[in-house]
Amino acid sequence: MTFKSGRHFLQIPGPTNVPDRILRAMDRPTIDHRGPAFADMALEILAGIKGIFKTKQPVIIYPASGTGAWEAALVNTLSPGDRVLMFETGQFATLWQKVAGRLGLDAELVAGDWRSGVDAGAVRARLEDDVGHAIKAVCAVHNETSTGVTSDIAAIRKAMNKAGHPALLMVDTISSLASIDFRHDEWGVDVTVAGSQKGLMMPPGLSFNAVSEKALTATEKSTFAKSYWRWDDMLAANDKGFFPYTPATNLLYGLKESLAMLNEEGLPNVFARHDRLAEATRRAVAAWGLEVLCQNPAEYSSTLTAVLMPVGQDADAFRKLVLERFDMSLGNGLGKVAGKVFRIGHLGDFNDLMLAGTLFGIEKGLRLFGINSAQGGVDAAMDYLDGG
Ligand SMILES: *Cc1c(COP(=O)(O)O)cnc(C)c1O
Repeated sequence: MTFKSGRHFLQIPGPTNVPDRILRAMDRPTIDHRGPAFADMALEILAGIKGIFKTKQPVIIYPASGTGAWEAALVNTLSPGDRVLMFETGQFATLWQKVAGRLGLDAELVAGDWRSGVDAGAVRARLEDDVGHAIKAVCAVHNETSTGVTSDIAAIRKAMNKAGHPALLMVDTISSLASIDFRHDEWGVDVTVAGSQKGLMMPPGLSFNAVSEKALTATEKSTFAKSYWRWDDMLAANDKGFFPYTPATNLLYGLKESLAMLNEEGLPNVFARHDRLAEATRRAVAAWGLEVLCQNPAEYSSTLTAVLMPVGQDADAFRKLVLERFDMSLGNGLGKVAGKVFRIGHLGDFNDLMLAGTLFGIEKGLRLFGINSAQGGVDAAMDYLDGG
């Protein structure tokens, strides 16, 4: 590798760029996690994190990646053999279904085209068919990170209510929380799954379960064998500001700083910033003559944009060129769209100039790659940002 001066551009849709404030907050001695200073900090974080999920209910924090929080949501509320309804919005929905299947759940995956979100009408129809209430949970990914497509969670909850079905609603917000509006309580979500390394601007290593009262009640009937993921041990310890096992103390320092930053900016401003930078990105993509993978403008993601390469062009070879020439990482195509799309992450600690640099690297990279239509995207984004 030749020497690279300046900062690396980490424009994958997570992990995201960690701001210096958070890095510095973590660069401190680890303290006694059974001592009073720790309890003061943990109680503050456990209270503060609720605002990010828009819930008054408990939020559980695991020292784990998001995949662990997927598993925790399932094993605390369900029992082996239970049926769960999932929707193939893309790779992450497919992986969550794989977790469910491995655990011994009867995980039904409604096929999708990887270009659209969950169809609330299909949720209602499927639940109305389930007269015996065999389906115990409906699981949806709020922002499908493999495609850049969001799903309307409030509409899914309404569909469940209209069907008069008692299933739990579980939502993966790993790439939307703290970037795109999400309301755990108001939207009647029972378990919200989240992670530290995307909108929360943290390194990987923490994940979350926000839990409704109905989800807590469901734990009483759950017969899954579980130990590390148990909510009851966690909630009992959290009450006093502690954890049942050693917490990721230094990541919690970072989380405290993340909450401070999000509150200083204000969540409505955080969401508006993401919306605006996402729209500027799409204007650039249109100017280049390329197509975004998401087909319905109402479902555009504000945290990432998946861009289709012209037919016959290898997206991974293009990403390699951009990495070597501009020291910028773009997201790869996953699963069914591997090699066909590249993904631009525009979430977390991100601003106009970072977007301009990102788009410059892509535009110039596309031309170096031989896609001569790639002109005027940076200008189109700037024109849009000028007006906003
Ligand atoms: C990143 C991501 C995951 C995976 O989380 P890990 O921390 O890698 O386990 C799951 N779901 C979505 C929607 C994601 O964006």
